[in-house]
Amino acid sequence: MIDKEYIQDILDKVKNPTMDEIQDILLRAKKREPLSHHDIGALLNAKDPVQIDEIHQIAGELKEEIYGSRVVMFAPLYISNFCVNNCLYCGYRRDNDFERVKLNQEEIKNQAILLEKLGHKRLALEVGESPKETPIDYVIESIKTIYENSSIRRINVNIAATTVEDYKKLHEVGIGTYILFQETYDKEIFKRVHPKSLKGDYDYHLHAFDRAIDAGIDDVGAGVLFGLADYRYEVLSLIIHNQYLEEKYGFGFHTISVPRLKKAEGMSLEDFPYIIDDEAFKRIVTVLRLAVPYVGLILSTRETKEIREELINQGVSQISAGSKTDVGGYHEEHAEFEHDQFELSDERTVLEINKDLIKRGLIPSYCTACYRMGRTGDRFMELAKKGTIGLICEPNALLTLTEYILDYGDEELKENGLVFVREHAETIKNQKVKNQLVEYINRIVDGERDLYF
Ligand code: SAM
Ligand code: SF4
Repeated sequence: MIDKEYIQDILDKVKNPTMDEIQDILLRAKKREPLSHHDIGALLNAKDPVQIDEIHQIAGELKEEIYGSRVVMFAPLYISNFCVNNCLYCGYRRDNDFERVKLNQEEIKNQAILLEKLGHKRLALEVGESPKETPIDYVIESIKTIYENSSIRRINVNIAATTVEDYKKLHEVGIGTYILFQETYDKEIFKRVHPKSLKGDYDYHLHAFDRAIDAGIDDVGAGVLFGLADYRYEVLSLIIHNQYLEEKYGFGFHTISVPRLKKAEGMSLEDFPYIIDDEAFKRIVTVLRLAVPYVGLILSTRETKEIREELINQGVSQISAGSKTDVGGYHEEHAEFEHDQFELSDERTVLEINKDLIKRGLIPSYCTACYRMGRTGDRFMELAKKGTIGLICEPNALLTLTEYILDYGDEELKENGLVFVREHAETIKNQKVKNQLVEYINRIVDGERDLYF
């Protein structure tokens, strides 16, 4: 599926696209016409500052047209840092000598309750790879513990590439998205950064989604750890991987994450020659939005407040908030964290992030309705492409935000937030949906919960 020569050849041919070429591609992108590999390569190489601004602007317009003002919120939950792999970029790698921990079910329950108290409904469960310490049954039990003991409604799972049998178990327990980052699509670099590791088998890793889909999972999320290899190569590879899945299974990635390499214990950023600057990072996000308009783009707290705010307007549709990347990292009181997987840059609380989003006219969304109504895989894509998702999602976002404001907001948010929700509800064009939405908002204010379209 990933043919290095083919991708390299395209990148060589589009090194210096003309302004006319870029203009033509942008016209087509605006109309949401499919872009060729050549087009995507050219956009990644555009050099004229005015045209680069235009790429950013069109990405913002597409985001607004498809997703409206919503920003989906989630938090990661790390339950174990035991790891048999030696990924050279990761603080949890085998060679780093520190006392490893894994949470027991009681501790997992407590973490879920703490996350619930922050208002979260959606988690990304993160686990290091250790067949002995954290076999699939431990992961399954942990998922059940969270669902049974908290109001967390959707658990996305980010665990190492595994077998069809293991994926079947994940499917049966009812996960949201199965997330796996390819880290890099460059085979040589992949092998180099995963020395003597289970994870070092490039083809097994690359075909993990095929096995997950064979096992019945129809919601998968990809990602690249940007900074390991040439970002242009990675972006084209992501697009090719997505097309491969679409052609084979009728649906591609539900989400793409864009983690950027950060300083971690036992590694120095100087050892990574492909580190990318903010300008290149913005290009990655905006070109992805143009290339795959219907795929959710996820930005984590690895990035600063400033970059996150900018990119939410230019294509990003999901963000994590209030994140901790150490095992058992959520505490009632502030605590010092000893073993983070990597450094974080946006340390605002969930409440602060939500208030900032609302001030900028954006709707933090805690909606999990699609997944609970079975709107996943090819059904989701069909609705997304018809634009129907917008009709359902914006009202659902407003409903979950109303719940958030009432249950977790401070006085200031309660005062401004409800006004914001009601004002937004008035802008819904479909009269029937608007009436129903206003009725639901009133019922939530009166104490009902979990109403959705
Ligand atoms: N262990 C599993 C795996 O590797 O797929 C799952 C989760 S791992 C905890 C989550 C992701 O963190 C990795 O896929 C990697 O992309 C990212 N990561 C690791 N080290 C990082 C670093 N130094 N900076 C930014 N992201 C990093
Ligand atoms: Fe382990 Fe995942 Fe970190 Fe690699 S990235 S060392 S597999 S936790």
